[in-house]
Amino acid sequence: MIKRLHTYARDFLHLFFPHYCEGCGSDAVEEKQLLCLQCLAQLPQTGFFGVQGNPVEKTFYGRLPVNAAGAAYYFTDDSLVHHLVIQLKYHGNSHVGTYLGMLTALELSAGGRFDTIDCIVPLPLNEKKLQKRGYNQAALIAEGMSQLLGKPVLLKAVTRDVFTESQTTKNRVSRWQSMRDVFRVEDAGALANKHVLLVDDIITTGATLEACGTVMQQVPGLSLSIATVAWTI
Ligand SMILES: [Zn+2]
Repeated sequence: MIKRLHTYARDFLHLFFPHYCEGCGSDAVEEKQLLCLQCLAQLPQTGFFGVQGNPVEKTFYGRLPVNAAGAAYYFTDDSLVHHLVIQLKYHGNSHVGTYLGMLTALELSAGGRFDTIDCIVPLPLNEKKLQKRGYNQAALIAEGMSQLLGKPVLLKAVTRDVFTESQTTKNRVSRWQSMRDVFRVEDAGALANKHVLLVDDIITTGATLEACGTVMQQVPGLSLSIATVAWTI
């Protein structure tokens, strides 16, 4: 199964990505690949998806009940993962998102603990940020994962409103409270009794995913798992 996924991913990536390695600039990269094999092999895998009680799951202990959670790669300053995420979030390099999503899905599948997922929900962006960036990077990652996992992406099931007050002036508790308030389930019917995979680019404190997940768990019978591309140490 995993071998088949890898073959499929390679063929798929071969079709869609440009000719120079995004990591080292080398042209020793298969046509339309994003990374050369050397850079691909150097990505710092966490192995978290296969491990119960991994650091990402521990982040949510006592805060948000999750079925399983994990991140594919370590996120460190000046690393290739850092470079790719910056390209995705701040340089309009949208195809990086789909690519990272596919890589993350490969790691997740290899972990073997996410087999019962029904659908994928990207952490929503508010409308203002969406307009500015032109896309939701989490949605692109979710789309890449969907290509490999064969599960649908629900783009409109959960939405996020713009903050009405400056976050920086608030203390931690009220900041969390206001964050929770901005997420809203728009299509509870699509999420009810489903095992939902909530997806984002990076997990740091987990506060935003916690806020979104808390709102989602008000949907009857919803079971939540979380996957991100990277985890900050
Ligand atoms: Zn390279």
